[in-house]
Amino acid sequence: MSDHDIDPTSPRMAPKPEVTKIGGRELKPSTLMMGHGFDPVLSEGSLKPPIFLTSTFAFPSAADGKRHFEGITGKRPGGSDGLVYSRFNAPNQEILEDRLSVWDGAEDALSFSSGMTAICVLMLAYANQNDVIVHSGPLYAASEGFVAKVLARFGITYVDFPAGATREDIDAVLSKAKAQAKSQGGNVCMVYLESPGNPTNALVDVEAVRAAVDEAGLDCPIAIDNTFLGPLWQRPLDQGADIVVYSLTKYVGGHSDLVAGSIAGAKKWMDPVRMLRNTMGGICDPNTAWMLLRSLETVELRMQRAGDNAARVCDYLAKHPKVEGLGYLGMIKDARQQDIYDRHCKGAGSTFSLLLKGGEAECFRFLDSLKIAKLAVSLGGTETLASHPASMTHLSVAEGRRAELGISDNLVRISIGIEDPDDLIADFEQALEAV
Ligand SMILES: *Cc1c(COP(=O)(O)O)cnc(C)c1O
Repeated sequence: MSDHDIDPTSPRMAPKPEVTKIGGRELKPSTLMMGHGFDPVLSEGSLKPPIFLTSTFAFPSAADGKRHFEGITGKRPGGSDGLVYSRFNAPNQEILEDRLSVWDGAEDALSFSSGMTAICVLMLAYANQNDVIVHSGPLYAASEGFVAKVLARFGITYVDFPAGATREDIDAVLSKAKAQAKSQGGNVCMVYLESPGNPTNALVDVEAVRAAVDEAGLDCPIAIDNTFLGPLWQRPLDQGADIVVYSLTKYVGGHSDLVAGSIAGAKKWMDPVRMLRNTMGGICDPNTAWMLLRSLETVELRMQRAGDNAARVCDYLAKHPKVEGLGYLGMIKDARQQDIYDRHCKGAGSTFSLLLKGGEAECFRFLDSLKIAKLAVSLGGTETLASHPASMTHLSVAEGRRAELGISDNLVRISIGIEDPDDLIADFEQALEAV
């Protein structure tokens, strides 16, 4: 802030009150993405937030410094009311966290240097020695590995259930988890979901999980990885989840040019994670946070376009004679899954599985023939990507477990981007000809 023309005591220095409503009308997230959480008055009138490259923040007085540290260390409830040190927080990340909260209707959000950092710090914040984590399956492979291999070293065990489980199945799993926790001398510390599952696109009934957790009298958060459908097509906090988790690397970042993650939920669920992030680090860096602010301005446009494109492409693929089937949320065959979709989802997304007639050889010929779609793992970018999970992302999964999860040799995973849909169809058409 320059001091050449502004009197620091003048009202011009005061941040303007944030407008989130006009005439009783709640402003939509797509509107709030242009300004929420940032006042140009505090940054030389800069319309866009500058990137704040600083490791530490000057205190107005020693008493302020003391007060800030009381908040940071938890000596005073409510957390820090000012910026202290960039491992704890910084302006770009705070603006990002404010804007991420808006999309999920959350009270608070925390940003991380990757989706996996968010997931690991979240779990470590809640899991104590001898506790049990209940989780849906399949999870993102690294999440599953963190629970089964890393947390296991601290005596933390897990009980898992398939994504499509019924209320009765979930009740049984929670009873088993409670008994397991009791025998280990711990507690059920978290119910961790991922919906839709990858690559099957099986949906978890979050409302049923909420009801089951409440009936079982469990005092633990329900967290859900919402990377595949969030923030546009699914808002799990509305179905009773407590914490949403994101790899911002995917749809939110959306340009395949950054790695970041976040969690969001009520402050009481965020506070323990914030404390651990303060200790461990893992907060997203200011440059990445700035890029994400730019991404958030177009996330709705990009996701809508990608979703429309995927619907067009899937319509085409479903009718093709070389296609055995599609795992696409816009074409669900199972009535129970359709019911979950109708209650939980606002759109079918743009990531789906294509089952070709044949096996690995046919999939490889198809992948090697694509001219527009790129052969890469990941999803949610502006460009269309295709990969072969059985030989790539899920190669390390044991064959039996792979079959159980529906990861067959004839499955191609596709994430549709925002290209012209007819160009994409032309590309898939010529690649199918080459199969
Ligand atoms: C990519 C991904 C992650 C991990 O995120 P990173 O940003 O790569 O650490 C977690 N969950 C899901 C569903 C993902 O697709």
